Amino acid sequence: MTAEEINGFITRQMAAWSLARRNHDALNAVATREITVNGQHIILQHNPARALSSGADVRTEAVAARPCFLCGDNRPTEQTYIESGNYQILLNPYPIFPGHLTIAHREHTPQAINERIADMLHLTDFLPGMTIFYNGPRCGASAPDHAHFQGVGSHFLPIWQDIEADCGTTITNGIPSGILITATDITQAERMAEEAIDKLPRRADAVEPMVNILTRRLPEMYQVLIIPRKCHRPGNFTTDPDDNAGIFVSPASIDVAGVIVTPRLRDFENLTEDAIFNLLTEVCYMHNELSEILK
Ligand SMILES: [Zn+2]
Repeated sequence: MTAEEINGFITRQMAAWSLARRNHDALNAVATREITVNGQHIILQHNPARALSSGADVRTEAVAARPCFLCGDNRPTEQTYIESGNYQILLNPYPIFPGHLTIAHREHTPQAINERIADMLHLTDFLPGMTIFYNGPRCGASAPDHAHFQGVGSHFLPIWQDIEADCGTTITNGIPSGILITATDITQAERMAEEAIDKLPRRADAVEPMVNILTRRLPEMYQVLIIPRKCHRPGNFTTDPDDNAGIFVSPASIDVAGVIVTPRLRDFENLTEDAIFNLLTEVCYMHNELSEILK
């Protein structure tokens, strides 16, 4: 697809679907604040509409009790899609950025990364200029029961700013640290990514390690950035509007890529450089920790 065709789809969805239009329009009024953490550029975004997703109850019982919002039968009638392979590309009605896409598998099948990295990279071909990302079932996916990715313009994500493009596997130096794979073809990139994922620790009852994965296409190559996770939410996570001690940040791919979504105004206003450093190093690994795991 061309960027114009994607924009045409988004424009048609906004014209036909008032919820998506309202929430996209609200992005114009969303406040952002820039902060430097350990020499890195981080953006805080105060986005109250994301409370639903950031606060989502993803426990197995809660997920089983609700109709799956990614299944075609349960979607709003206004929501249409573009097909690409096994996936249906949808406009996200609760966007973090303009043109934020949700990319749902056509079948109701569990969220898992195994054998799907190539799918992500094919989608980077299909959706030029976009980062296609994956939130593991315990790392920010609000539908852990239905396989899906999301897509946003790569230029929105600060984490790509200092990323090198030499072929191979490297451990990045930032906060958080990640495993960066750069390769000229999809099969090779997938193989390298799967090798790296296999080395990561996982809980005995989990099908995969806890990860967020971001992929993009550069003119001559593909990149896969795996951000391994220690835990889903910080120890002082809260959704209580009056809880002064806790923070309402539920880190997923976009947060670990440098845009931290704060549904509560108090977190947006009060989070300091130290607090963000502590948050990111609590839920993700630093370079020395990741080097130790992968050696
Ligand atoms: Zn489903």
